[in-house]
Amino acid sequence: MEITRSAFGKTHDGQEVWLFTLQCDSGMKAILTNYGAILTSLYVADRNGHFDDVVLGFPSLDGYLQKHPYFGALVGRYSNRIGKGRFMLDGVEYKLATNNGENHLHGGIKGFDKVVWSAEPVERDSAVGVKFSYLSKDGEEGYPGNLSCSVIYWLTSKNELRIEYFATVDKATPVNLTNHSYFNLAGQGVGDILNHQLEIFAERFTPIDKGSIPNGELRSVEDTSMDFRQPHTIGERINNHDEQLKFGRGYDHNWVLNRISRSLTLAAKVYEPTSRRVMEVWTTEPGMQFYSGNFLDGSLAGKDGRVYKHRHGFCLETQHFPDSPNKPDFPSTILRPGETYRTETVYRFLSETTG
Ligand code: BGC
Repeated sequence: MEITRSAFGKTHDGQEVWLFTLQCDSGMKAILTNYGAILTSLYVADRNGHFDDVVLGFPSLDGYLQKHPYFGALVGRYSNRIGKGRFMLDGVEYKLATNNGENHLHGGIKGFDKVVWSAEPVERDSAVGVKFSYLSKDGEEGYPGNLSCSVIYWLTSKNELRIEYFATVDKATPVNLTNHSYFNLAGQGVGDILNHQLEIFAERFTPIDKGSIPNGELRSVEDTSMDFRQPHTIGERINNHDEQLKFGRGYDHNWVLNRISRSLTLAAKVYEPTSRRVMEVWTTEPGMQFYSGNFLDGSLAGKDGRVYKHRHGFCLETQHFPDSPNKPDFPSTILRPGETYRTETVYRFLSETTG
């Protein structure tokens, strides 16, 4: 297993940006940059041992410096939406940057996906990784408290990308970190993801209003297009007449994961029939946003000259529920001084060799 570092370029204000390549003996390879702690490439074997890059992204730093829909990014301080960009905490109302209509999305105008992180290669038994660290200052995008944050991406000899998230703060603040990779298990840029078979281990989801803010309910998936308790292709029901699919313009919802303990739990399993790649998502988080790439429209040129059209990638963003700071009944996202935020998510790859 090895880690190598190479130059990726400079930001507009002259900060140096690097690429870190993590390679394991099986041939699986992950490439990350300290700009936005972004996963730029992930090479995974298919059933014949052929490696393809299964995440969407750009060939150069310039691609990531332009406006883009969070390809591969580390999202924070709060991933997903906070309604009207406002919340009350300990009797004080905080006003956040609004960047999604009247709402706050994915940390605001300059979220964690658009900052330069410090980076350090790390190694442990059967895994190589890179640790990214960032200090988000009190008041950044409207959030309270200096938040000291670190994220370790590990590539393990078991063909897993493991992401560990840590944070501490000097004043109470909401925190909700995730990774926003767009996957296509047939290979990035080769087509849409509608034939992927998806299983989500959740009995309930959080229905949204037309601004994509949860209405507070935890609704059963039974008899709805949201029921992925058995495998269904992503495309099978995506055009059903369903108010929730209309509001999301497809799937863009948070599932309430079935969880019996705080340890890593299987949240989802995805199977792509042509390559027979399988991806499992394990997490310590209570929720997961399944987003079916509804806003991709062919306007972004990606790696290898590929163009990313409607639904050419999907995201499985492990998280706390959207708008939790305004929803007292949702699991709390508030981190207080003296506490340590710690979550973990694993993307595990297998290839189906039978059937
Ligand atoms: C959100 C989508 C959004 C996408 C890209 C997802 O996490 O749920 O609504 O369009 O990120 O910004």
